Amino acid sequence: MNIRNDELASLSRTSGLRQLKQTKRFDLLVVGGGATGLGVALEAATRGLSVALVERSDFAKGTSSRATKLVHGGVRYLAQGNIHLVNEALRERKAVLRNAPHLAQPAPFLVPAYGLKGRLWDQPFYGIGLKMYDLLAGKAGLANTELLGRAGAAAAMPGLRSQNLVGAVKYWDGQFDDARFAVALARTAGAYGAVVLNHCPVQALLHADGKVSGAMVIDTETGEEIAVHARCVVNATGVWVDDLRRLDAHRDSRMVSPSQGIHLVVDREFLPGDHSLLVPTTDDGRVMFAVPWLGKVLLGTTDTPRDVIETEPTPLAEEVDFILGQAAKYLARVPTVSDVRSIWGGVRPLVRPPDDGGETKNISREHTVVIDGSGLVTVTGGKWTTYRAMAEDVIRHCTDAGLLVPDEPSRTIDLPLVGAPSSATHKISEPPGAHLYGTEAERLDELPGAGHELGMGLTEAMVRFAARNEAARTIEDVLARRSRILFLDAELADALAENVASILVDELGREAGDLAEFRRLAGRYRSVPH
Ligand SMILES: Cc1cc2nc3c(=O)[nH]c(=O)nc-3n(C[C@H](O)[C@H](O)[C@H](O)COP(=O)(O)OP(=O)(O)OC[C@H]3O[C@@H](n4cnc5c(N)ncnc54)[C@H](O)[C@@H]3O)c2cc1C
Repeated sequence: MNIRNDELASLSRTSGLRQLKQTKRFDLLVVGGGATGLGVALEAATRGLSVALVERSDFAKGTSSRATKLVHGGVRYLAQGNIHLVNEALRERKAVLRNAPHLAQPAPFLVPAYGLKGRLWDQPFYGIGLKMYDLLAGKAGLANTELLGRAGAAAAMPGLRSQNLVGAVKYWDGQFDDARFAVALARTAGAYGAVVLNHCPVQALLHADGKVSGAMVIDTETGEEIAVHARCVVNATGVWVDDLRRLDAHRDSRMVSPSQGIHLVVDREFLPGDHSLLVPTTDDGRVMFAVPWLGKVLLGTTDTPRDVIETEPTPLAEEVDFILGQAAKYLARVPTVSDVRSIWGGVRPLVRPPDDGGETKNISREHTVVIDGSGLVTVTGGKWTTYRAMAEDVIRHCTDAGLLVPDEPSRTIDLPLVGAPSSATHKISEPPGAHLYGTEAERLDELPGAGHELGMGLTEAMVRFAARNEAARTIEDVLARRSRILFLDAELADALAENVASILVDELGREAGDLAEFRRLAGRYRSVPH
């Protein structure tokens, strides 16, 4: 099957809502437009099923825009001896990099080793481990692991603290723009005929003969309630899966143990070059990264169990202290609170072990699929990198349970996403620009304001493109997820908001009444607790 309709990749809200209302019964209704739900929608649509996906806010508004931006080959699972997970992650990493090279690319990482009071053993230890990983990866490998001496390490990563540095292990993994990847998934699913809508929460589930038969969806822009009927309903709401399961059967059981991770964003001067830094064991046993990304550097992350799940997670002072404290040990120029350009958190949907009680950093990162007695299918856990394998697994479970009958076998492993060029022209570590639009970059030139840059690579034409083709409906959709400026420099995002609002008014034909709200949000991304 080929892409059914290029125009549908533009995700027109009007026609999406019309189809949602007019379709008597979909094969599949997916609730949640993060990596997991979008992956399921694409998997199902490319296998000939009729699909609707509804997201209550914007695509990737939840955890899926808040990752460390790594497409992991699963090297951490090697240390746990879980070869199955390593192989799966390697295969999926390759697929992510191949299917959207404008948004996901190989990137070099350094694990530094220090003598004297540092950990001299880190280098041989990780060197051997990563060499084994190279062997295991075979053709799925990106490039060979190398052992660098002191001079090589310092040259590759000029921002590294040089005192007592003895060398580093250099290995390769993947890196991506998570939110733009999510939008590309949504648009590709749309191109294959799926109805994909953001700003449409599910408020209630519909039942017939004791089985889930659809959901009541609200169009938040008009307040209209729409009854959507489907043979199969997949709950892909990430850390919120328990809320939807409660709507199904008022059940009290919890599948998810939420764990918060935050990131601090600083200027590239703190880590020049394009190598990422991996600190494999920090003081409390977590890993920490410093990742050059879209012209800035991400420092993170943390693993803090939380009881309350917020849409905008609140970073804690101790998380900030931990990250800055670790950065101070490894970076030549030490970042402080006043250097932070943006701070944001995400919540991992870790699957709760049956005999609860452990720390979240020890809980499985694997995904889980559960089919309740009502037929509601819930999928959660996993990670961005393996979203596609998770989607295949969900459709397999639904097929085995007789809920879906796909026409065709899976083909997403080598399915290019909308805009995918044959190879990358720029690195994800470079500042944002038209290269992130892949083969669609030339379409930007046809729009008004192509030469009018608002800031940080964002042009007027990109805002228009976001509204016309990428389902952006609010200032936040544009500044947080079509461009990533809110995540990169919250003060700049605040300064650009008014301009973006007026372009959106022009495009959407209605007042963008959310300027004050966006300013409050940008204020959160600017204030660093300490
Ligand atoms: C700090 C951190 C760093 C990470 N780093 C990486 C990394 O580098 N690499 C990697 O591979 N993975 C990483 N992960 C893991 C990865 O980000 C997650 O596994 C993945 O994004 C989860 O996607 P999801 O779709 O399941 O959840 P989400 O992205 O949260 O999507 C769920 C969606 O459901 C929507 N929703 C909720 N309720 C409703 C409703 N009633 N109606 C409609 N919609 C609803 C929400 O708005 C949300 O958009 C990281 C996670 C965290 C927290």
